[in-house]
Amino acid sequence: MSPAPLPPVVTAPEGYAGCGPLLPGPATDSKPLRQRVFEHVRATGIAARADVSRALGISAGSVTQLTSDLIAQGYLCETAEITRDRREPARGRPAVSLAVVPKAHRVIGIKLSDERHTAVLADFSGTILAEAMLPTPPVRKSLDQICDETAELVARLLAEADLPLDAISAIGIGLSGLVEPETGAVPWSPLLIGTDLPARDALTQRLGRPVLIENDANMLTLAELWFGAGRAMSDFAVVTIEHGVGMGLVVGNRLYRGTRGMGMELGHTKVHLDGALCRCGQRGCLEAYLADYALAREAATALGRNPRNQASPQAMLEALFAEAKTGNMAARSIFRRAGRYLALGLSNVIQIFDPELVILSGERMRYDYLYADEVIAETLALTLNHGRQPCRIEIHNWGDMVWARGAAALALSYVTDTALGQGAVA
Ligand SMILES: [Zn+2]
Repeated sequence: MSPAPLPPVVTAPEGYAGCGPLLPGPATDSKPLRQRVFEHVRATGIAARADVSRALGISAGSVTQLTSDLIAQGYLCETAEITRDRREPARGRPAVSLAVVPKAHRVIGIKLSDERHTAVLADFSGTILAEAMLPTPPVRKSLDQICDETAELVARLLAEADLPLDAISAIGIGLSGLVEPETGAVPWSPLLIGTDLPARDALTQRLGRPVLIENDANMLTLAELWFGAGRAMSDFAVVTIEHGVGMGLVVGNRLYRGTRGMGMELGHTKVHLDGALCRCGQRGCLEAYLADYALAREAATALGRNPRNQASPQAMLEALFAEAKTGNMAARSIFRRAGRYLALGLSNVIQIFDPELVILSGERMRYDYLYADEVIAETLALTLNHGRQPCRIEIHNWGDMVWARGAAALALSYVTDTALGQGAVA
C-alpha cells in the first residue's frame, strides 16, 4: 500500500457536501492544474481561492488565473456564500467562494440487473436530479434486448427530469460479470446470452450518447469513493454479496482495475480443493458456498423441498431465512456455514491488501446471519494483526440507486477528463 497522504483541508461547509475523492491520489499527478483546481472545488462543494491554493500547494496568482479561465469556460462560478479562512477560524476572514456550475454537464448512471434496471441523472456537481426504474424479467437477454431495455430506461429518466437526450454528456453503465472498460467488451455476464460481446459499442449506437461500461462491484466501489465512506480514504475494499460475490478495491485513492478486467473476482478465489461446483464451471470457489444459488441448493435438501417447485433461488432463500428465524436448526446451520466461508474470504482480502476499511454491501446483507457479529469476529480471528488496530468492517445495506450513482460517477469522471484533462480543448 502507498503511504497514506496527509489529509488536505477539504472539509466542506454545511449544505455543500461536494462529491468525488477527497485525497490527492496518484491519478492526480498526470492531470493538468486546471482539472485539479476544478476537482478540488467539486470535492469540497464550495471553496475560497485561498483554500484551493493551500490544498493544492500552488501560488495564489496561479489559482486566480486558473479559476478565471474556469469561470470564463462556464465550469466554475463565484457564489455569494462566504467561507472562512480555516487557518484562522476564530477571526474568520470572509472570502469570495467558488462552486461548480451544475448545469455545465449532465450525466446518467445506470445499473443493469436481472430483476430491475435503475438509473440516476446527475449534474456536474454530482447532485442527483432524477431517478428511474424499469422492471425486467429475470432471464438472460440478447445484447439487442439489453440495448432496448436500457433505451427505455433512459427515456423514462429523461421524461422524469424533463430534459432532452442532447442535454446528457455521457452515460455510465454497470453490470455484473467480466467487463473490459478499455475496449468496452463483455467477455461474460450472467445477464447476457453469448460471450465476448461488444456491449459498449452497441449501447453507444443505441443510446446516441458516449457510453462507459464497468463491472457492477467496481461501480459500487466508485459510489463509496465519490459519495460515501471512502471519500477520504486512501485504501479500502468493497465486498458485495448479491447473486454472486463481487469485490472492488481502491488503492491510493483510485479504483484498482487489474490488467485484463478479470481482477477482484473474489467469488472465484478457491477456498476448497475439489470443493463444491461453481457456476463458473470450476470447483471450490468461495461463491459456490455463499451465493444465493449455493444456499438454495442446500436449502432444498435441508427443507425437503424440490427446487423445481420454487419460483427462483431468491424465493428458496427467503423460505430458508424464514425457517432460520423461527429456529430451524438445519436452516441456521446453512447460514452459519455460509457466514464462516464469508469470514474466510474477508480475512484473505484483509491479509493480502491490508485496507483501512472493508465495506460489506449488497442485497444479501439483510440476511443478518451473514454478517452477524460472530462473522466479523471470525474474520478478524483468521487475520494476523500482531497487536495492530484491526481492519474496520462496515455493513452498508443500500438499495440499487447507490450502484447507479457509482455509474454516474464513472460518467462524471469521463466528462471531466474530456473537458478539462490532457488533450482537452481549453
Ligand atoms: Zn467459480
